[in-house]
Amino acid sequence: MLYEINEKAIKLENEGKKIIKLNIGDPDLETPHEIVEAAYGAMKKGKTKYSSAYGEKNLREKLARVHGVSAKNVVITPGSKWGVFATMNLLLKDGGNVVIPTPYWTAYGLSAKAIGAEIRLLKTKMESKWRVDLEAFERLIDKNTRMVILNNPNNPTSKVMDDDRINGIVQIANEKRISVLSDEVYSDISFVETRSILDCEGDHVMVTGFSKMFNMTGWRIGYVVANREFIDRIAKLNQITFSNVPVFIQEAALKALEMHDELTKEIKSEYQKRANVACETLAKSGLEFTKPDAPFYVFPRRRGLDSERFALDLLDKGVAVAPGSSFGDYREHFRISLTAPRNDIATALDRICEAIG
Ligand code: PMP
Repeated sequence: MLYEINEKAIKLENEGKKIIKLNIGDPDLETPHEIVEAAYGAMKKGKTKYSSAYGEKNLREKLARVHGVSAKNVVITPGSKWGVFATMNLLLKDGGNVVIPTPYWTAYGLSAKAIGAEIRLLKTKMESKWRVDLEAFERLIDKNTRMVILNNPNNPTSKVMDDDRINGIVQIANEKRISVLSDEVYSDISFVETRSILDCEGDHVMVTGFSKMFNMTGWRIGYVVANREFIDRIAKLNQITFSNVPVFIQEAALKALEMHDELTKEIKSEYQKRANVACETLAKSGLEFTKPDAPFYVFPRRRGLDSERFALDLLDKGVAVAPGSSFGDYREHFRISLTAPRNDIATALDRICEAIG
């Protein structure tokens, strides 16, 4: 349905209509020019050749310092999406199942399907502030369970997991000897402190990237932090598929990290303003939602709503949102991405509230 909405939005745009696109998590904000310049500079210096499937030494060393690990625990990937897919592929290709709390980012399910792995969905609800029920989690695990995927902060709820919940999940995973894959792609620009899986007991896998942190979605760069043997296996997959992330893009990522505090502060502050605008308007309209702990999403609910119908109809009013059914069993919810200029967000929210009545 996400794709159907996107296609219809593009069709309407081609017909000359203005559509405020709050349906995908692709920031309107531009990549900071210093990052663009770094890539350009690297290209001009001839950094346009094949390179290591692990990634560039200087970038891996910098990331290792950021996460308090060795450079041997880091591999550079074309976006965190590839890090997710590669990890799932390595852990599930010989069979088994994966537990995924919902609502969830669609790509986890699609990747599991592509690999031929069984998916076990673990439903969380707005009433319980999207917290994972630890007993329900334990009940879903059997001898064929290989991994659980955490997405912290979460897409589409923008909720950050509290420490007790992460500790509980990790403890169960360690006892049952299953791997935790933690997708932390929104954590660096989170509004609240977000605990990384790397700070928890055990041998787990952390995936993240530069897309959301630095408005670099189209650059395709991310990385995985894990034990050395697992990193070697991902590097091998890299080698037989895309070879390496372009070196000039890695140089740009290094520049982004050097300017990390300054850049992420600005980006975070803009999203916090957008989230405030959204929360105020949604609250006035009587929609139920949880306040986002992080960019980019709000996931409101209206009882009895058919969000697929609603999202399709809303397109005719010039606004695109994602129906809740794209993230699991959440037909009464819809996801608003705060990835448009503040004025557009305000206009879109007024139209949403008017349409929802
Ligand atoms: N993880 C989550 C939870 C996401 O929402 C997205 C993008 N929408 C990604 C990963 C992919 O990010 P990247 O551009 O780094 O592949």
